[in-house]
Amino acid sequence: MSLPQFRLLRPRTVEEAVTYLAKLAGNIRVLAGGTDLIPSMRQKLFEPEYVLDLRGIAELRGIRPEMTGAVEIGALTALSVIEKSAYLREHYPVLTEAAATVASPVLRNMGTIGGNICLDTRCLWYNQSLTWRKGCGFCIKKDGDLCHVAPGGSRCWAAFSGDTPPALLCLNAEIEIVGPAGTRRLPLQEFYTGDGENYRRLQAAELVTRVFLQAESADYRGIYRKLRVRGSIDYPLAGVAVAMKRSDGHVADARIAITAVNPAPLLVQRAGEMLAGKIVNEALADAVGDLAARIAKPLTTSALTPEYRREMIRVFTRRAILAAASN
Ligand SMILES: Cc1cc2nc3c(=O)[nH]c(=O)nc-3n(C[C@H](O)[C@H](O)[C@H](O)COP(=O)(O)OP(=O)(O)OC[C@H]3O[C@@H](n4cnc5c(N)ncnc54)[C@H](O)[C@@H]3O)c2cc1C
Ligand code: SF4
Repeated sequence: MSLPQFRLLRPRTVEEAVTYLAKLAGNIRVLAGGTDLIPSMRQKLFEPEYVLDLRGIAELRGIRPEMTGAVEIGALTALSVIEKSAYLREHYPVLTEAAATVASPVLRNMGTIGGNICLDTRCLWYNQSLTWRKGCGFCIKKDGDLCHVAPGGSRCWAAFSGDTPPALLCLNAEIEIVGPAGTRRLPLQEFYTGDGENYRRLQAAELVTRVFLQAESADYRGIYRKLRVRGSIDYPLAGVAVAMKRSDGHVADARIAITAVNPAPLLVQRAGEMLAGKIVNEALADAVGDLAARIAKPLTTSALTPEYRREMIRVFTRRAILAAASN
């Protein structure tokens, strides 16, 4: 599959990048590591006239811990840098665990945290070549007006399939967004819409520039578990992140988030309440696993059945909680 023709723009500053985006809105795509964008362009899912290559914007790279214990991570920071960061591994282990499971080592060297947060939603009927999609019929997410997965419906259920966002949700992470109207900061939780077609709250001329981890979220134990077809390289088909703090053997605070089973990564809302103040045992881990499985709403968007993916959310949640609470 050949790449469509495009013009490459290489800004050196965020301001320059935003100016291009505002001027060429609708006809331009942002490239960070390109590990998802380029395959999608080969499949003719996107055929922009311009590609905005962010890689020359040096200020968007790097992990910067602050005196308070909070951390700022530039959107262009490679996932391999996050995975190997001794500081993050010590203080925010759920993030390094999740980053280490993305794709393969080569893709983690190219792929960025910003690209992982902004990753397009995925579906068996969408992530295919143009010839394939033409043969089977287009759908709501691109060029069509029906959904093969939920026929009769009017919305897209493609699954958000990034690994680091559930870990970031457990850390109450915030992101910085820059656009023509200025800079705004919002909790990552508010970034995703839950709609597989328009899956993120980002205007055409806006960029995600930084990720912020709060000092209050430091030093939680962190576990990430994921289901995938090929253990060495695949997107998650179900994923669970757990961050937990304990005191005297009791859970002081816990957060759980799931990915790849809904059009957005989601915090399991009542999990923290169920665990708070308790000593973790198998029955409690089972109960929270059941809660997470009820929130998961996978459909036939992937090679594995929805039933199996939902069941694995239950199993992984249970296992991750027990692992986070082990000594
Ligand atoms: C074989 C294979 C396996 C993979 N397995 C996994 C996996 O297991 N887990 C996983 O999470 N991902 C997986 N991926 C997808 C991808 O490698 C990662 O999600 C990676 O983090 C994407 O980052 P990137 O910098 O390469 O993004 P890009 O491909 O450059 O961009 C991805 C999307 O985000 C947008 N974007 C990027 N940066 C910004 C920004 N700063 N502001 C606004 N928009 C932006 C782009 O326009 C594009 O729409 C896989 C990819 C391949 C090819
Ligand atoms: S969930 Fe439906 S509309 Fe969305 S990509 Fe899949 S088939 Fe298309």
